[in-house]
Amino acid sequence: MARYRCGECGFVYDEAEGCEHEGFPPGTAWADIPDDWACPDCAVVEKPEFDRLDDTTVEH
Ligand SMILES: [Zn+2]
Repeated sequence: MARYRCGECGFVYDEAEGCEHEGFPPGTAWADIPDDWACPDCAVVEKPEFDRLDDTTVEH
């Protein structure tokens, strides 16, 4: 499972947790999210613009 971060507001989508209020249950893979889905927090960053966080990535 990977995580993806919005570079604008810092919102993180975690595949293991999903985003239930967006309609994505826990375990929803990033690949299954529509490309036109936008960040639920800032609404200005779309899926292709999110940054992938690897397990080795240190969050700041
Ligand atoms: Zn955002």
